[in-house]
Amino acid sequence: MSSTRHLFFEHCAQTSPMPLTIEINRAKGLHLFDVNGKSYLDLISGIAVSNVGHCHPKVVAAVQKQAETFMHLMVYGEYVQSPQVKLAEKLASLLPQNLSCTYFTNSGSEAIEGAIKLARKYSQKSEIISCHNSYHGSTLGALSIIGDDEYRSHFEPLLPNTKRIRHGIIEDLSLITDKTAVVVIEAIQAEAGIYKASKEYWTALQQKCKETQTLIVCDEIQTGFGRTGTMFGFQNVGIQPDIITLAKGFGGGMPIGAFVSSKEIMQTFTTNPILGHMTTFGGHPVCCAAALATIEVIENEKLVNNIPFKAEAFKSLIQHPSLIKDFRQEGLMMAIEFESFEINKKIIDLCLENRIITDWFLFNSKSMRIAPPLVITIEEIEEACSVINRVLKQI
Ligand code: PMP
Repeated sequence: MSSTRHLFFEHCAQTSPMPLTIEINRAKGLHLFDVNGKSYLDLISGIAVSNVGHCHPKVVAAVQKQAETFMHLMVYGEYVQSPQVKLAEKLASLLPQNLSCTYFTNSGSEAIEGAIKLARKYSQKSEIISCHNSYHGSTLGALSIIGDDEYRSHFEPLLPNTKRIRHGIIEDLSLITDKTAVVVIEAIQAEAGIYKASKEYWTALQQKCKETQTLIVCDEIQTGFGRTGTMFGFQNVGIQPDIITLAKGFGGGMPIGAFVSSKEIMQTFTTNPILGHMTTFGGHPVCCAAALATIEVIENEKLVNNIPFKAEAFKSLIQHPSLIKDFRQEGLMMAIEFESFEINKKIIDLCLENRIITDWFLFNSKSMRIAPPLVITIEEIEEACSVINRVLKQI
């Protein structure tokens, strides 16, 4: 065992009995290079993060420039910091009018925490509804609303007044009542293994929330920044959220999250008490500069426009022998479902041996995750699919 590997097991907190343990010392575009110079094709983007590829030169330049201009100056919300202002203005230009005011965080979990805290205080209600099989984060509030009862049960007691509904099932909307403060939902359920709902469902949800004065939080942490073929996933399904949460692909590889809402709703944090939500590092100038550069890359390289074409290439190139039980896809969010976890694991391991990085989903271990950087080329899609097809034949 190399000494770094040994030290990894010795001193870095372990959260899995079987970590991937590849040791990378350089990354560029779709490629990760390990310490022996072996290159891997990244088909999971560090779990939906590297939408513009690893170390995009425009993002690297923005980070370098901001790092030598200023880094941390003051806790969030006191000084006028141009990287934050430019990024918030850019987000407002991409979003509907009611989503014009941004609170920056360091991560997705913190964005969810802020969003549910804001929705509860604004509505003066406390009940939170989320979906079965959803993942929203690992902090206690976010953990309280994730949709896996077994997983959650190990950390109880958690937040009171939380309920779960099935994503896409109209009957379950009857659980939303006047007592509900907020429904937290993903346009496409990511960790459930890529599930979407019908147009009728979204219309019924919107209607029910209007009737009961329930706020809608769209968790855009995986679906945001082009992944599903629109800049944000909610634009794909036609819902009008009151709050959205962002993270992952937002920073082009740098840690940043946000929750975005209207000025009126966000004002809830300004009085009674003042400083209703605080963060020291949220909206770090270097991360904001990286995020602005990332959005500009997505726009300038027309990454969103090309998603349907690339998604179709994956769909047509992966051969569907009887081994594949289901293939679910929304843009470059894909799930290939097999009979069992054992078969899926074998395929994922074989792909890794063949230098293709895939994964399963947190709440769907039978399905293989494919969520490559959006900058993937047609040649790279062909290369990836030919390896996957070869592996499928070996099973
Ligand atoms: N929401 C969704 C949909 C996610 O996929 C994740 C992370 N996997 C989170 C929230 C939490 O984000 P973070 O890990 O940055 O806290």
